[in-house]
Amino acid sequence: MNMPSLESRDGLAIADGRIAEFRRAFSGDVILPGDAGYDAARRIWNASIDRYPGMIARCAADADVAHAVRFARADDLVVAVRGGGHNVGGRALCDRGLVIDLSAMRGVRVDPDRRTARVQGGATLADVDRETHRFGLAVPLGVVSRTGVGGLTLGGGVGWLVRKYGLTCDNVLSFELVTADGRTLTASAEENPDLFWALRGGGGNFGVVTSFLYRAHPVSTVLGGLIVHARDQAGPVLRHYRHVMQSAPDELTAYAGFITTPDGVPAMAVIACHCGEEAEAERAMRPLREFGHPLLDAIQRMPFPTMQQLLDDAFPDGTYNYWKSTFIRDLSDEVIDLLVEHASRARSPLSAVVIELYGGAADRVGDADTAFAQRRAGYDVGIMAQWTEPPETDEHTAWARGLSQALEPHSSGGYLLNFLGEEGEDTVRRAFGGNYPRLAELKRRYDPTNFFRLNQNIQPAA
Ligand code: FAD
Repeated sequence: MNMPSLESRDGLAIADGRIAEFRRAFSGDVILPGDAGYDAARRIWNASIDRYPGMIARCAADADVAHAVRFARADDLVVAVRGGGHNVGGRALCDRGLVIDLSAMRGVRVDPDRRTARVQGGATLADVDRETHRFGLAVPLGVVSRTGVGGLTLGGGVGWLVRKYGLTCDNVLSFELVTADGRTLTASAEENPDLFWALRGGGGNFGVVTSFLYRAHPVSTVLGGLIVHARDQAGPVLRHYRHVMQSAPDELTAYAGFITTPDGVPAMAVIACHCGEEAEAERAMRPLREFGHPLLDAIQRMPFPTMQQLLDDAFPDGTYNYWKSTFIRDLSDEVIDLLVEHASRARSPLSAVVIELYGGAADRVGDADTAFAQRRAGYDVGIMAQWTEPPETDEHTAWARGLSQALEPHSSGGYLLNFLGEEGEDTVRRAFGGNYPRLAELKRRYDPTNFFRLNQNIQPAA
């Protein structure tokens, strides 16, 4: 293709002089089409996304973010914000517009006395775990360590500590952000509380978060890992998983997944983490471990950052991905049968279907207390098509869509914002649920022109 250039929304090229002017007040790296690092800089986790930004502004400091926002406003540019680059729909990138790239802003500072962690907006989960673990602390984040805290936190954030300590967004004490008018604001319970509400689950709609202040918890070593059963045991394993989780303690979070083992054997896995005291952990994990005849029981005590990386190899950088997900109210026998039948039709060994139950502390916050509206929506079913050969794209996406459609009659009508790919406006609205009108009102107040629109977008209220 021809080298893309930086263009305004209505297709006018931005003059080189303007870009030179931008550079003068920018302390990070400006990466343009044709530069040596351009192709690497426009690559994200999902290789299915192939976009050509007109300019990538890799920020080194908060002031760079504010400068980039003001520049984009003045020149009416399309803007994408890149955190960890793990949004499956590729919202971190745009064509011909400006990418505000936070991937060089990954600093983490832990205050062990206050049990807090100040984390820059482009950090990955691994960056946070590495620093907090030094003090025997952990922030509740997600389950794949290369994911960005930015998108994950703004979308809610579910992971191994969700039932004990809540969603990631429930553990944010304050956000520092640059809003659409280029101002730098703090959002916390005391300052701009309406914005604080919206940022806890409202996605990237309200500004670029330059840093998060998180509450950290005393979690150092956990009992966790994988239990793998033969695939023909999928039905019984899922029924047992449902039974165990109905009375599981908050310390135990477990997911069940249709996977293929590294040596190519279709299997049914339970992956679990107990963050509590050792004897309690052994006791709570026992029903999962003693069920049936697992091919593998790799449950063991491990440092929490190791638990956080157990699934990394299953989601390598540079594969092709298409995800669907929905909440289902009940993991009924009918749904289990449907899952067993459809999951067996997956044609890529990298594809998976994962059933996740949250609850616990996440449920003890009201649906309207933060922007995250799906606390009581049931089990999330993530359908993750992943493959390595581009010509196979249609086959694998059709499989994911087929299962998603089959699940529709069982859907609770809720969706997990963080797992949405390229979905229509209706699905995004349903993910925000009853909070949408308030979010739209706040969007009108903080971003009336919908400057931040490459996200799970909220239309500003009329
Ligand atoms: P990006 O693609 O960089 O950004 C995603 C969106 O967030 C974009 O709209 C972007 O503009 C916005 N954004 C990012 N950073 C900022 C910021 N600092 N300020 C303002 N806007 C920002 N989710 C979970 O909740 N739990 C999980 O366990 C989990 N596991 C995952 C595993 C894998 C392999 C993948 C691919 C995704 C997973 N997710 C999980 C989903 C993930 O949380 C979302 O895809 C999230 O958007 C990723 O954030 P990111 O910063 O890496 O993404």
